[in-house]
Amino acid sequence: MRIGYGFDAHRLVEGRPLVLGGVDVPAPRGCLGHSDADALAHALCDALLGGAALGDLGTHFPSSDPQWKDADSILLLRVCAKMVHDAGYSIENVDATIVLQSPQLATFLTSIRERIADALGLPFGSVSVKAKTSEGMGYTGDGSGLAVHAVASLS
Ligand code: MG
Repeated sequence: MRIGYGFDAHRLVEGRPLVLGGVDVPAPRGCLGHSDADALAHALCDALLGGAALGDLGTHFPSSDPQWKDADSILLLRVCAKMVHDAGYSIENVDATIVLQSPQLATFLTSIRERIADALGLPFGSVSVKAKTSEGMGYTGDGSGLAVHAVASLS
């Protein structure tokens, strides 16, 4: 059994969609980034790659490469899952926490989990996504950004 950990953070700006786990969340501001800036998908990619010691997202999909401009990060997640499988591992479960002051994500978590479960070929019950605020503290609390922590277990 192996554990992988991933982290991502993005700045929140007006005029960008807020995409989390492949789901468009209605919000006045979204994540700034080269791809669709799906911080949840990115943190999960790094957790999967980390569990298999395969490097990180930036190594495999460099933001300097125009091929990945506005990329669908769920596609990147599928590719990372395939890399993990090709290295001889199977994904047992993933768990993530999104740190964001607003909007509230509770009503979106089921569809986000379904989207990730589909991308990873996992049962719904093996994908956990949670949302927390940081009680107004720091960059996740003052609305300037969001952060995601994720872990994955591989066997
Ligand atoms: Mg990112």
